[in-house]
Amino acid sequence: MPHCKNMTELLSASLESPLPRLTRLQMQLHLFICQGCRRYRQHLSFMQQALLQIDQQNPAAKLPDNVKQRIKEQLAKVKQVDDQ
Ligand SMILES: [Zn+2]
Repeated sequence: MPHCKNMTELLSASLESPLPRLTRLQMQLHLFICQGCRRYRQHLSFMQQALLQIDQQNPAAKLPDNVKQRIKEQLAKVKQVDDQ
């Protein structure tokens, strides 16, 4: 089963492309037992929804890749705080 640190990467990766079935199963198991990662997934999904809405409201306002990267880093920090 993946560790919390791997989970943050896997959850982010799962937003960009589908993951192998076994990996998804292992992630589900981890999410079942780990509240920190469930919370991280909620943050991630909230951010994704917010970004989608921005895109829909103003298609010209695409976020540059470096901004997306900074958002991911901030989310990773939120996850680390949750682990403590
Ligand atoms: Zn975890």
